[in-house]
Formats: sequence, structure tokens, C-alpha cells
Amino acid sequence: METRHFTRREFMKVGTILAAGLSLPVGAARLFAAGLEKLVKTTRVVWIQGQSCSGCSVSLLNSMDPEPVDLLTQIVSLVLHQTIGAAQGETFMQTLNRVAQEGDYILVVEGSIPLEMPQACVIGGRTLEEILVQLIPKSKYVIAVGTCAAFGGIPAAEGNHTHAGSVRKFMEKHHFSVKNCLVNCPSCPAHPKSVVGTLAYLAGHGYPDVVPETLTPRMFYGHSTHDECPRYHYYERKLFAKYLGDPEGCLFKLGCLGPITYTRCPHRQWNNGVNWCIRASAPCIGCSSPYFAQRKDFPFYRKGELQHAVNYTENERKGEK
Ligand code: SF4
Ligand code: SF4
Repeated sequence: METRHFTRREFMKVGTILAAGLSLPVGAARLFAAGLEKLVKTTRVVWIQGQSCSGCSVSLLNSMDPEPVDLLTQIVSLVLHQTIGAAQGETFMQTLNRVAQEGDYILVVEGSIPLEMPQACVIGGRTLEEILVQLIPKSKYVIAVGTCAAFGGIPAAEGNHTHAGSVRKFMEKHHFSVKNCLVNCPSCPAHPKSVVGTLAYLAGHGYPDVVPETLTPRMFYGHSTHDECPRYHYYERKLFAKYLGDPEGCLFKLGCLGPITYTRCPHRQWNNGVNWCIRASAPCIGCSSPYFAQRKDFPFYRKGELQHAVNYTENERKGEK
């Protein structure tokens, strides 16, 4: 296949699209463009999947700016990926060992980690735990992509037998420092703009400003969905939607978790800006929250919605599950 090389103008275009999609100021476009250029030239990415459905990888392949082929062949030097990488079987394991020896890469982890049942996640005959203990110390940065890696997510739901947990819990268990190293990019799945933007920022400018409690970059996760919701004016006037799919009214009484969920969904939306949950008249189910999918008694869509939402909000405020 003939390879194409991005020009500076094209990097600027992608940087501008990334920044505009997140309503970031014009200076952010230049930051992203410079970061993308550095990502191409000097930064290798190792992507490891643990307890995951591969949804975050599929989401990355839905990237439109840049398109997936450009992203994976021209921008991100993806040296390892279990499902979309060329190296498989013995070659994959040999590459893993070589890369781990060389160091100097950004490690992306997708999926949670079975903290008390290492044998529940095995890659090429080795446990994920062994592989991460090998890869983390030699990495420049670690990105936990998706809510499973960032906070535990669906595999960590109440009652799971593997004690699935986040990358942060794994690093703390093994006494690896998360400070200025680990960045969480939650959402189920992670949004391609957040992943590409974080990679570009790390490559070009280093560790970003993060929310200390969640280690999420403020530029992508600094505002709640509620703060920027197009239905906020209904909320203020206490005009509530009456049924799922109601095109009018705030969805709070139908269980919307927008007030406690931090993403730029109202700006960048999904599928290249085609739509997002609230525009489709469905409540935000809090997919980027640390509490997503944790409790058995808290289904995504609920009856007695107001009470549940209030309890959930109160518990989160008090730091309880
Ligand atoms: S629909 Fe949800 S996010 Fe939007 S204003 Fe209502 S509660 Fe907030
Ligand atoms: S609106 Fe809420 S549930 Fe929907 S994608 Fe955004 S954070 Fe996730």
C-alpha cells in the first residue's frame, strides 16, 4: 500500500477539528496539531486489552477526523494491539518482549483487570497481570481507555467473581506511582476524540491537567453533561419529559444522570456528531462515571426514577457506592 504523509496543514486541520468538536479555544488546535505531529514522528503506542468487549477499539475505528486508516497507518505508531494489530501468536509475544525491553512508549489499557483472579485473563499463556507488571515500568505514560479500564465498569459490577478493577487500583496494588503517569479516559465506549486528543497531548506537551479524584483530563471531562445540556433550560423551569423519547423537557425525572456525569457529549456527540443520548431523547446513563454499572439495584433505565437519581447523586456526593 502506498503510504501518504500528513502535511503540517493537515495536522492543523485535524487539530482544529479536535478542538472545535470539544469547544476548546483556538490555541488548543495548535497544541493538538503539534502533538499529533510529534505522535507520528516519535511516539510508539502499545495497546493491551484486558477484560473488555473491544468496544473502545471499535469506537477508535469509528474515528472520522482523522479517518481510521490514516489514524492507524500515518499517525499512531501502534506497535501492539491484540485484535487489530498484524502481529499474532508467537510473533505478538516476541514483539511484546522486545518492546518491553526497549521501553519509551505510551501504554494504552482497554478493559478492567482481574485483581484477585489473575488466571481469568490470559494472553499468550501469560496472565494480564504479569504482562502489565512488565510493561508499566518501561512506559512514558499509561492511558486507561474506557470506563472498564478507568473505573472498573461493567466487568466490575457488584457480584463479579474476578474482582475486576481499574488500572489505577492495579497500579496501586503493585506500588506503581500514578502521579504524572496515569490518565483516565472513561466512557462506555471511550470517544475517539478523547483518545486521540489525549495521545496527541501526551506526545506533544506531556501530562495534562487532570481532575485529581478521577485522573481525567479537564479538557475532555471538566464539565458535566448537565452543565452544557441543550435541555438545561427545561430543567431550570422544572419542565420534565413525560416518557422516554419525549422531544420536550428535561429527562431528570426519567433517571438522567447528566448532573453527575462529566463528558463533552453535548459538544462532540457521537458517530461523527450525528447524535447523542439526550438529543435522541434518552437519559444519560452515566457511562463515564466511576459508579457506572456497579450496583445490582441500579439498572440503566429505572422506574421510580426521581428517587433513584436523587439517592445516586447523594451517595456519589458522599463518596459512597
Ligand atoms: S436532560 Fe439530563 S443533563 Fe439535560 S438538563 Fe435534564 S438532567 Fe440535565
Ligand atoms: S450522554 Fe451520558 S450515557 Fe450518553 S454517552 Fe454521554 S456520558 Fe455516556
